[in-house]
Amino acid sequence: MRSVQRSEETGSPSLNLPSPIQTITFENHTFYLKRDDLIHPDFSGNKARKLYYFLTHDLLHIDTVVSYGSAQSNAMYSLSVLAKMKGWKFEYYADHIADYLKANPHGNYKAAIENKMIIREQEAENSEQVVGSREHFGDNILFIEEGGRQKEAEYGIRLLAKEIIEWQKDHGIEELNVFLPSGTGTTALYLQKSFHKLLPPTSYLLPKVYTTPCVGDSAYLKKQFLMLVADKKYHPTILSLGKKHHFGKLYRENYEIWLKLQQQTGVVFDLLYDPLGWHTLLAHRELLRKPLLYIHQGGLLGNESMLLRYKRKFPQLTVNS
Ligand SMILES: *Cc1c(COP(=O)(O)O)cnc(C)c1O
Repeated sequence: MRSVQRSEETGSPSLNLPSPIQTITFENHTFYLKRDDLIHPDFSGNKARKLYYFLTHDLLHIDTVVSYGSAQSNAMYSLSVLAKMKGWKFEYYADHIADYLKANPHGNYKAAIENKMIIREQEAENSEQVVGSREHFGDNILFIEEGGRQKEAEYGIRLLAKEIIEWQKDHGIEELNVFLPSGTGTTALYLQKSFHKLLPPTSYLLPKVYTTPCVGDSAYLKKQFLMLVADKKYHPTILSLGKKHHFGKLYRENYEIWLKLQQQTGVVFDLLYDPLGWHTLLAHRELLRKPLLYIHQGGLLGNESMLLRYKRKFPQLTVNS
């Protein structure tokens, strides 16, 4: 495993790690903000963490990466960047590509195509359907689950946990709450697990991870956690807003909080996950009795398509792109 060691020693020179942590004030509360969106201009946020293992290891037998999911997903774009960095082919299965998007490529879709993604329109709800659709599925292929939900993600997320613990030690921050919004829940799950693995159970540093489901409901998110880690003691705490929310749909209050965040903090957040994250956080102010670290998980390229849609749906809103 000499190649692995070498990669670990040299790391990946182009990544801005540890990512910076800054203080922001929002709605008269002070938060710490972990800027994982600044890890790399193209390969950033939690997708950089989740795919970090593949980036920093030489997988010499691999020449193709295959995945599936929505045609505008952040994970899809990040995989196209990984494939480009590695010199791999990238094949992606999307169950539906809107005619409008095909005619007017933009956002993650456009950028991934520019990175030579080969996209196929085909229904797939799980890896078996994609694998089954291929005539040959050889050792040269790396298969990545939708949204990067897989075991290798733990490797890069453990590094995130280490960075946070180091920062706590440097700044004398003991009891810490950490908050991040979830899609598959992979990032929140491995973050909580990593804190448990890196610190003794009685450590006063041990951060508590809180999250909220953005894609399904709490039951869905719990199921996602269990698929990756059976032991519930490693699971994050799920908070939810009473209101039902559909992923990817446009909500005036989501746009409004996104804009307010930008105005009050100077930071641009993502439009799919972060508005729900911040709404949830403000609805659970009991978390703010301890210092709170919010993780900015990137995804800004996806804003382009969201802003276009917001502009069309709410023309009276001031949408600054
Ligand atoms: C992918 C993504 C998430 C969700 O991450 P999970 O690990 O699937 O929970 C959250 N925020 C942003 C900006 C993302 O791109």
